[in-house]
Amino acid sequence: MKQYAIGIDLGGTMIKYAIVSSDGEIIYQSSTLTPLDKGVNGIVDAFIVAAKAAIDEASQRGVEISGIGIGTPGIVSKDGRTVVGGAENLPEWHNLPLADSLEASLGLPVAIMNDANAMALGESIFGAARNVSDAVFVTVGTGIGGAVMIDGSLWRGYNGRGMELGHISVDAGERTCACGGKGCLEMYASTSALVKRFKELTGNDADGRIIVSLYNSGDEKAIQAMTEHWRYLGRGIASFINIFSPQMVVVGGGIAEAGSFYLENLSKEVLSRALPVSAAETRLVAARLGNTAGCLGAASLAFRNKEI
Ligand SMILES: [Zn+2]
Repeated sequence: MKQYAIGIDLGGTMIKYAIVSSDGEIIYQSSTLTPLDKGVNGIVDAFIVAAKAAIDEASQRGVEISGIGIGTPGIVSKDGRTVVGGAENLPEWHNLPLADSLEASLGLPVAIMNDANAMALGESIFGAARNVSDAVFVTVGTGIGGAVMIDGSLWRGYNGRGMELGHISVDAGERTCACGGKGCLEMYASTSALVKRFKELTGNDADGRIIVSLYNSGDEKAIQAMTEHWRYLGRGIASFINIFSPQMVVVGGGIAEAGSFYLENLSKEVLSRALPVSAAETRLVAARLGNTAGCLGAASLAFRNKEI
């Protein structure tokens, strides 16, 4: 029987939330600004307001909600109850029994998960990686996030401390990363890195969308910046392929949706660097769910809870 759950995706700017059916249909979605200035309590209150709005919406539609799933930046305890810490934009977001406190306020089962894992779960249940057991998910945005599915399970590292795919080293150069390391993939291949590089080359401010359209119109500097972007991202993805030999690499984030030329150019870089034996069965594809993947994956936690 079809079930419904609320999926909430906490981002540095927005809290997105949706009512999702167990077959992946979004019947309602909305968002609210993340009240970063109001600290932990402000964010928890914003979750409660968002969840109550979705619960009201569900009852108006005669839909019963099975539970609530939340994707959050940072490390989440293995049992999906507590935020352990490690969220860059949310320094006070640690040792927080989020699932318990929301259950007490909302009276519904709550489960939480790292946001990159929630996106990967969404794509693997409802999107590009359906029926795939081994996949690497890479999201290109302000930073580079990711997740790895091995033999049907998301790999979390010991005590849930994985997977910082954006912080593997791809360059011996001097670009210092917010993580304290140097040469991290996201310092060279994120959309922010692309924007910064374009400014270095031209002196002009432009966002990813403008750089892509300049690239398409043959602008020399945009071509140079995009070529470097693919080269670095290809270097990172080739390393992931050499380690994991996935069936699929799913590339998400606004820029990955720019058009098929994006993945074609990236594939060339990846295949020129990955070990042929590791990449033999790997397909590089674009994510399908866009910015709804996080809510869909988070909501699926509630369906899982119900089954258990
Ligand atoms: Zn780093």
